[in-house]
Amino acid sequence: MILIFCIAVLSNFQGCTKMAVTGHLQKSGIAFTFDDFNINEWFRCLPLLDSFGVKGTFYISNYNKLNREEIDKLKFIKKCGHEIAFHTTNHFNMVKYVNNKGMDALIQNEILAGLSKMNADGFYPTTFAYPFGQHTQELDNTMLKYFRSVRALNGTNNYTKSLATTLNNTILYGLGIDESSKRPMSTILQLVSNAHDDNNCLVMVSHHTDMPGTKFITTQNTLREIIKKAVALDMRFYTVSEISR
Ligand SMILES: [Zn+2]
Repeated sequence: MILIFCIAVLSNFQGCTKMAVTGHLQKSGIAFTFDDFNINEWFRCLPLLDSFGVKGTFYISNYNKLNREEIDKLKFIKKCGHEIAFHTTNHFNMVKYVNNKGMDALIQNEILAGLSKMNADGFYPTTFAYPFGQHTQELDNTMLKYFRSVRALNGTNNYTKSLATTLNNTILYGLGIDESSKRPMSTILQLVSNAHDDNNCLVMVSHHTDMPGTKFITTQNTLREIIKKAVALDMRFYTVSEISR
């Protein structure tokens, strides 16, 4: 599929260059993604998400560490319409893993082993996120045999990388919005606004939502502000599978 990107330098923006990328979505939107296995915190976030009709995507790692209560909460999260996605069995750096043990071992241990545990409990992830965002072209090609899309991280100030322009993405670069990213709220809200104006979907990444003392947290207040902006602009809340090939 040919994607036509119309990139225009518009203005100086938060100390870096603002670029617009023309999207082809019928309805602009945002996608919240949450990584790892902070089930209890996400569960406490559900009233906020559900009150605005937000559907998030939860990329689960270390499923074998979850206790029965957490598994039940994850089932409830799924039942509320959120997407349960996959983030490996043990959360290793996959690039290093392949270098040390090879691709076959990675597939067996870090993909199939974790997936089968989730499958046994009724979870069938179709989208994937890389631990630490670490990936290679070879990994992308391999993972895309198992998943509809892979999500890495946007470690740059080129925010257009985090804007999905179609519903048929295979690689997404999520924009970190945890406090560790040090992105001001004004920047994030501006990007939501850009996504609206340009008909695309801003993909964001969070970890904890309710754990004082960690930098890797997007508080409910932060989420609420972003959600309110999207609601005010009549944007849609996409799960990742809805914008994946
Ligand atoms: Zn992770």
